[in-house]
Amino acid sequence: MIKPDDSSLTAEQYTTVRNSVIDLLNKSDAWGRLPTPIDDVMAAAKLKLAPISAFDEGVIERYARKFGLAAKTLVKSAIDKVLGILDVHGNIVHIDGSVNKEKQNFLKLHETGHNELPHQRGLFRWVQDCKKMLEPDISELFEREANIFASIALFQDGHFAKVTADSPFGIKVPLAVGRKFGASAYASFREYVRRNEKACAIIVLNAPTPCNIHGFKSDVRRIDPSPEFVRRFGGLVLPETITPDSVMAKFIPATGKRMSRPNTLALEDRNKVVHEFVAEGFCTPFNVFILMHAKLTLNKTTIIMPAGFKASA
Ligand SMILES: [Zn+2]
Repeated sequence: MIKPDDSSLTAEQYTTVRNSVIDLLNKSDAWGRLPTPIDDVMAAAKLKLAPISAFDEGVIERYARKFGLAAKTLVKSAIDKVLGILDVHGNIVHIDGSVNKEKQNFLKLHETGHNELPHQRGLFRWVQDCKKMLEPDISELFEREANIFASIALFQDGHFAKVTADSPFGIKVPLAVGRKFGASAYASFREYVRRNEKACAIIVLNAPTPCNIHGFKSDVRRIDPSPEFVRRFGGLVLPETITPDSVMAKFIPATGKRMSRPNTLALEDRNKVVHEFVAEGFCTPFNVFILMHAKLTLNKTTIIMPAGFKASA
């Protein structure tokens, strides 16, 4: 299933978030320091990492011994849904220590965002005081704002975009630069595309799984086009699942390989006009990333899809 949008904001909301990040990066003197000094950023926000994390199995076990199995199940089911928790009263952030360091960096900044955005902090305080729940649409907006807060902070606003723009376009660039910033491959690809002047897009797939009918299948998780891609082509439409007969399949790295070579890709727009793209793939144990960019300069606003597009099961 393609995941719902987790990062789009109105221009006004974006400006509020960005101003708040800039303030904090100034206070923590973080500009230009690599990797982005997360500890200093959190200290400037007067936040501490929980010395005993709520995600710690030992803590949950002790809690179970004291309050019983039903209480444990309740806490565990709440914790399983999230990877980070902000305790606004204690100025404490709990992070799931079982995810990798880069993901933890992002989560720390995400929770910092909930605390730093004044309209969020006030409401979180009220929610935690009165044991209320946020309305779902408010809660989703807050999550998107915290995600954008985290990426602006981690990539130091336009700093990552400026550094990556010094190298020719390619999949290795955001990977190498992202590592220096302390970012995951996932966050780096999204940031690369989001601020790119080229008509480009990143397609995120789940790792391929064997399939009796097709050989393998890989679910499309997210498609992030650059602003220029949207301006020229409107958007990119893919089937929900990529199988070996898909034009995208050749970009999924072969078993045991991390990358696929750059190759051309023909995509057809709504009016059956074919456009040429260059694409290449990279994989982690969890995801496959396909980075593509338009080869020719075209000025059409159309939605494009793989040639011979057909929905696959
Ligand atoms: Zn959150």
